[in-house]
Amino acid sequence: MSSLTAKPEGDYLRVTSDGKDQLYPSVWLRDNCQCEQCFNPSSTSRKLLMKHLDPAIEVSKAEVTNQEEVNVTWSDGHSGAFSAKWLLPRAFGESTRSRRKSWYALPIKLWNATDMKDGIPRYNFDQIIEKQTKPQNGLN
Ligand SMILES: [Zn+2]
Repeated sequence: MSSLTAKPEGDYLRVTSDGKDQLYPSVWLRDNCQCEQCFNPSSTSRKLLMKHLDPAIEVSKAEVTNQEEVNVTWSDGHSGAFSAKWLLPRAFGESTRSRRKSWYALPIKLWNATDMKDGIPRYNFDQIIEKQTKPQNGLN
């Protein structure tokens, strides 16, 4: 059985899951609030405007419900809930950060003049549109 606790610590929220502590910046949590007022799930985008985000905001209250969700209230009075399933993989610890990086970052492919000896591929836009096909060598 997993255990989940959450405790406000000023600029941070301490979340402990199965004995492992993770600190989440209060402002990051507010920026990533998943409630309907702050987040649009169909476009997976925030609704909160940056100009309305207080960088000095703090978590004033945190409660765990059913060992599955962390309910957070910030110093601006706003409240939102984070599921453990969403929150824990986004922890700021090194192991979760490197795992996240492997999801999002494309592998780096270095190139040099030898790789471009035949020049940068160029295509005629009108010909591509007329043929309604993609070039055979490179553009996808
Ligand atoms: Zn919200």
